[in-house]
Amino acid sequence: MVEKSIPKVIPIRIDEGRGLTPSIGAQLHTPHGNTQDRRGRILRDLRISVTDRCNFRCTYCMPKEVFDQNYPYLSHKELLSFEEITRLTSIFSSLGVEKIRLTGGEPLLRKNLEVLIDMLAQVRTPEGKPLDLTLTTNGSILRKKAAALKAAGLQRLTVSLDGLDDVIFKKMNDVDFPVADVLDGIAAAQEVGFANIKVNMVVKKGTNDHEIVSMAKHFKGSGIILRFIEFMDVGSSNGWNMAEVLPSKEVIARINAVFPLEAAEANYSGEVAQRWHYQDGSGEVGVISSVTQTFCHECTRARISTDGQMYLCLFANEGFDFKTLLRSGKSDLEIANAIMNTWAARDDHYSEIRGSNTANQSTGSRKVEMSYIGG
Ligand code: SAM
Repeated sequence: MVEKSIPKVIPIRIDEGRGLTPSIGAQLHTPHGNTQDRRGRILRDLRISVTDRCNFRCTYCMPKEVFDQNYPYLSHKELLSFEEITRLTSIFSSLGVEKIRLTGGEPLLRKNLEVLIDMLAQVRTPEGKPLDLTLTTNGSILRKKAAALKAAGLQRLTVSLDGLDDVIFKKMNDVDFPVADVLDGIAAAQEVGFANIKVNMVVKKGTNDHEIVSMAKHFKGSGIILRFIEFMDVGSSNGWNMAEVLPSKEVIARINAVFPLEAAEANYSGEVAQRWHYQDGSGEVGVISSVTQTFCHECTRARISTDGQMYLCLFANEGFDFKTLLRSGKSDLEIANAIMNTWAARDDHYSEIRGSNTANQSTGSRKVEMSYIGG
């Protein structure tokens, strides 16, 4: 395999006060859960990045060449505090958001994360229901944290794992982290009672695609749902190239040849993964085809970056500065109106534009890094 050299770029990060200013509007409306954007999409779920730091240097996400000791990570005062995250979450829930995913960076690196989870677990929807609270982690410190996360009220977990072969996995995480420790983290989560664990594998053609069937075999029958993610052109520093994308339909074909599959219904409208059941009843796998079968038209998701910018798309290059609003004495009603107005003006459909581009290339515009906006 030919190694590509990754150009040194300083990824986009919105410096203090430089995000777009959300509009509160002249007239305040009662918060409601039916705000449609310009493409008829309704806001339903929220991803919150709790740190822009990670202890892995996955070559497709935070390559060492860029995220080195000189990288300008956010300082503690730039981060949203737990109180600010909880307040924002509660306002989002008044607007119909029922699902919250904490991510990063590596969310378990945020000090006392279980305290935040405990605070978020107290938030109720207007109907009085708790939120669906979940987290995506690389699993590296899950053994240490699993019991505290469960006790704090975390309901579900997704663990990222890109293969079972140590040589390949270490090459992808680029910090020599062994597969066995991630598997041990998953075991710890199961021991403390997490059901509904998912494992996400990013597939890079020519790097780890030969691990697809062994990963399927390993998790088949375990109760864990394995999902394969197409390598995406997020950020500006991962050297994305369409030639390294293995289309999900090829992933399914390879598994189906060994373990016959049948298509399953989506759990809910807007679910990004396409689900497949093993015909022998031993569980399911999913594929997330962000490149070859885009799902912009049913995207119900907003993102809050580590420093409180609201992003409407994973591939955006601009965010809306909600941290300044939170810190400037605005009321919950004013912030709710700013969120509704920001969502109502949304018109992005990046992946569809990339897909309709005949060369199927990245659009070339610079985008924020996934570690900052939250994967
Ligand atoms: N550190 C946590 C983890 O490893 O799961 C959470 C953050 S990470 C950015 C979230 C997910 O995004 C991981 O499953 C990661 O593999 C995936 N990811 C990162 N860069 C990607 C890319 N270029 N294409 C597809 N998935 C990517």
